[in-house]
Amino acid sequence: MKANVEQFRFRDQKLAKKIINELREMELDIMIMHVCGTHQDTLVRYGLEGMLKEVGVTIRQGPGCPVCVTTPREIQEILTLAKNEITITAFGDMMKVPGHGTSLMEAKSEGADVRIVYSVDDAVTMAQKNNKETVFMSVGFETTSPSTASVVARGPPDNFSILTCNRVVPPALEAILDMGEVKLDGLIEPGHVSTIIGTSPYEPISKKYIIPQVIAGFEPLDLLMGVLMLARQVHEGRAEVENEYSRIVKPEGNIKALELMNRVFEPVDTEWRGFPVIPRSGQALKEEYQEHDARKYFEDILEDLQTWEFEEPEGCRCGEVLRGIIASSECPLFGKECTPVNPVGPCMVSNEGSCNIEYRYGKD
Ligand code: SF4
Repeated sequence: MKANVEQFRFRDQKLAKKIINELREMELDIMIMHVCGTHQDTLVRYGLEGMLKEVGVTIRQGPGCPVCVTTPREIQEILTLAKNEITITAFGDMMKVPGHGTSLMEAKSEGADVRIVYSVDDAVTMAQKNNKETVFMSVGFETTSPSTASVVARGPPDNFSILTCNRVVPPALEAILDMGEVKLDGLIEPGHVSTIIGTSPYEPISKKYIIPQVIAGFEPLDLLMGVLMLARQVHEGRAEVENEYSRIVKPEGNIKALELMNRVFEPVDTEWRGFPVIPRSGQALKEEYQEHDARKYFEDILEDLQTWEFEEPEGCRCGEVLRGIIASSECPLFGKECTPVNPVGPCMVSNEGSCNIEYRYGKD
């Protein structure tokens, strides 16, 4: 069967059965990781996780939810700015993420000026209408960074600054493989991120770690085909980068978006929740844009937090979930003390979080 995705009817059950049968015939016992909340949603919503498990393929979501990997330090930074009467703008997903005993939602209920926005452009519009200092909490991977970069490059108002919590995916994949806590036989790479970065950033990873990778789309058949392509590589002893999502992802990525990101951001060593500092995995505003960098602009207010030792919420095992060591349902708090209404950790807050997805689709 050839991977001609253009011909797929993306939910064709006959084709799905054919793929599952081919996987079964391989008599697999493999563990693969993906790093994408939308992939996890498709896997759980359509019951693919269970189907794949039956044919010897275990799949874990790694650090693929930008809200989930935002650290308690970053949450504390934005809360500290909120308490200093600065207007805070953030995506709705960030509102409930627990910081050190509180969240942006609680800060808002206590009178802080915290506003939900749907884009960085909304945040700029608010700053234009607002006489106060306004900070946008910029959270996301390569998919969202270009829009933040675009706003900065265009020259936002003087009272607008950005708390950059942007991260890039390939260094996190290397961190997972370097740590070696889970033995992985392959990686499914995220379609959206790959639309921006293309296929080449994954090549050195396959070479260095001798691991197969497949970039996959988001329909059920995209994922099944992605797993089959990975399994064939494992079976044949290959470790290459293949592109199942070639109808969207081009080898060179989105050149304009990449140029924009590179103009505005520079790579920095960054902490991810559940991980040690990962080299060159974060994006900071370049020197020439410092006046819009909230960490520089409000340095006096945020200074103490740079050395602050933070702790995860008690009992929360988000770190292990994000590193693929356990499934969400293996956390003792899952569905008991921790639910989307009363989340203990960020993986239960975000729609892209593994715990939230498992809870929503009723998996126990
Ligand atoms: S169930 Fe809750 S406490 Fe447990 S890992 Fe998930 S988010 Fe953290």
